[in-house]
Parts: sequence; structure tokens; C-alpha cells
Amino acid sequence: MVLSPQHDPMGMAIRDYYEGCPLQPLRVFSPQFEDDEFPVETLFRAVPDMSGLEREALRLCRGRVLDVGAGAGCHSLALQSAGQTVTAVDISPHSVETMRRRGVRDVRLADFFADEVGGPYDTLLFLMNGLGLAGTLAALPRLLERCAVLLAPGGQILADSSDLCYLFEDEDGSLDDLPDSRYYGEVDYVMRYGSVAGRPFGWLYVDAGTLCRAARSAGFRCRVVSTGPHYDYLACLERAD
Ligand code: SAH
Repeated sequence: MVLSPQHDPMGMAIRDYYEGCPLQPLRVFSPQFEDDEFPVETLFRAVPDMSGLEREALRLCRGRVLDVGAGAGCHSLALQSAGQTVTAVDISPHSVETMRRRGVRDVRLADFFADEVGGPYDTLLFLMNGLGLAGTLAALPRLLERCAVLLAPGGQILADSSDLCYLFEDEDGSLDDLPDSRYYGEVDYVMRYGSVAGRPFGWLYVDAGTLCRAARSAGFRCRVVSTGPHYDYLACLERAD
């Protein structure tokens, strides 16, 4: 389901940042973390400011690309400038409008799971922990099934993710404190921009082993292309058949 414009805190922050309006803090609340503030400017990062994993993902993009959960459009714009054909989708109306104004040529206000997003695509791009939009580990197979429908023959999924295990490590490195009621990479969030609160949502931080097992069950080959400096990695998934 796409967001209503009245309940789109991150999109409002993106719009205000783009317009140069005074910014209010974009607050992030989660029972699993300390209250935090989301640095809106990071959503406008240029290629040199992106992580090594993101730059590698951009290099690996080929053919028609779908930028899933495109935010302010930083990856779509980078790909477009490099001459690639990219479609950006996001559920945030203010983000979508801002991407249009920034010059992303093909932008859709759409829910990756539920709405028409065009295709088939040669590359499905999920950056900044983009697979997180599955929300829970139980929903990851549904996300992968949706990807299978949208991918052209020979197509690929590129996704960066983080393993949150470090949050649960003891001093000796053992993982004794993992929650037993749910997968440890499932995080609940609410965002608030000024007086505007968004709807609560879950975000999934899937570790590489768990992702590769889910990928295999869904008929994909999964490989870790690179690892980053802090429990993060870039994965590439391709249909096994
Ligand atoms: N990929 C961007 C933005 C990351 S923030 C970047 O790296 O800068 C995650 C984005 O995913 C948000 O803009 C949010 O609105 C979007 N999103 C969340 N669920 C979605 C869904 N089901 N379909 C499409 N976009 C979604």
C-alpha cells in the first residue's frame, strides 16, 4: 500500500531538504534501538559519498534496472547519468514527486509487492538494506517470488544488507543474547517528522547465510559479492534454472 501524503514523514523531509526549507528533525523510534535522528542529507548522497558496496552494486547493474524503494533517487540518478535505463519505485508520494523534480525520468508511486511496476527487468536493485522492505523474515520468500515474476531471463537481484548479530554479541564474541521469539534482524520502526507521524513498519536486516538459504528455497543462486567494513555485504541473486 502506498503512503498517504499526510503520513509520509521521510518523504516530507526529503521534499523540504530538496526545496532548501528549514528542516525539522526526522526522528526514528524503535523498541530495539535508542531513539535516533535520521540524517536526511544521506539520502541525497552522490556517488563518491556512497559506500564501496553501493558503488560496486551500481557497477554491476545491467540492462533495464528497477530501483526498489528509491527514496530521493540517488542511485537512479547515478545510473541515469551513466546512460542506463532505470525505473524508480517508492511508496512515498513526496519522495516520488521529489525524484521527478530531480530529473528521474521513470518514477512510479507504487508498492513493490502490490502494484504494477512494469518490467521485466534485468536488474532489481535493493540498496541501503533494501530487502528490509520485506519487513520480516517470514515475508522474504514472498519478496523473492515477486522478484522472480519481475526478472527477465538471466536477470539479477543486487542487494546490500547488514547482519545485526553485533548487537547481540558478548564480549567474547558469542551470540548468547539473541531474542528467541523472532529473527534477530527484524526491527520495528516509527518515523516522525515534526508533528507528522508515519505508520509503524517493520524492517528486515537479513544476514548473508539466512538470505542465501531463503534464496535457494526460492530457486535462486545467491553469492556474496563483497563484504563491507561493519557486518555489511553485497549479494547477487540469479535464477538457478
Ligand atoms: N534506496 C534509497 C532509499 C532507502 S529508504 C537509498 O539508498 O537512499 C527506504 C525506501 O523504501 C523509503 O523511501 C520507503 O518509502 C521505500 N519503501 C518501503 N517499502 C516499500 C515498498 N513496499 N515498495 C516500494 N518502496 C518501499
